[in-house]
Amino acid sequence: MTLDNAGDTSLLLGNAEVPPVLEQNEHGRSPFLLTADHYGRLIPRALGDLGVPAGELTRHIAWDIGIAGVAEALSNRLDAHLIAQRYSRLVIDCNRPPAAPSSIPVLSETTVIPGNENLARGAAEARRREIFDPYHRRITEAIDARLRQGMPTVLVALHSFTPVYAGIIRPWHIGTLYHRDTRLPPLLLKLLRDEAGLVVGDNEPYAVSDETDYGIPVHGEARGLMNTGIEIRQDLIADPSGQTQWADRLARVFGQIETMIR
Ligand SMILES: [Zn+2]
Repeated sequence: MTLDNAGDTSLLLGNAEVPPVLEQNEHGRSPFLLTADHYGRLIPRALGDLGVPAGELTRHIAWDIGIAGVAEALSNRLDAHLIAQRYSRLVIDCNRPPAAPSSIPVLSETTVIPGNENLARGAAEARRREIFDPYHRRITEAIDARLRQGMPTVLVALHSFTPVYAGIIRPWHIGTLYHRDTRLPPLLLKLLRDEAGLVVGDNEPYAVSDETDYGIPVHGEARGLMNTGIEIRQDLIADPSGQTQWADRLARVFGQIETMIR
């Protein structure tokens, strides 16, 4: 196992590594701009396994289970630009301010991340420079380009949540997450609650804040865009059929919203 905690600032992602940013339907015409901060669970080779047992690296602590399939299908259904990040949130969490202690977590739920302990500043900076920054730069550039073209833009940050966290069962199937946007979340809540049999969380299981989030405050609120976070319970989207079903549902709901916000 190799751990990059020696403090050197050399390249973290070599030429042979997969780039952090994945994009789909870049020229899509939908007003919805989709992001997926926790799309992937890759770890740069230089970091080994971060000292974490293999069984832990497929759990929710490493990524948002199921959201990749939902995000890609939804992007196709809506003809919406998707920008997603392929590396594990255990390497660096792309939905945390880099100064937050949880940006590069030493503990996730009850799992210790040895490869993140006593991390030298240069090693932390490399993760930010090579993973966090390129991802957020692409979102900024995409929003810039849309605004220049006069394209309506609604930011939707896609996430999934674990059915049980720290021993507490979460009853919701889906939740909307918001803070300062007062226009989109009530529409979305209403339409989701009109769907038969859904338990919908209103700012559950999480609420957005400047301390615990990055994408919505920085790309949505600070730029004056309509925005929301969406959290889908992981067990509902663990397999391709669940992912398709939820992408279909969200495409229908967002299609309705598109006609309401014009
Ligand atoms: Zn997430």
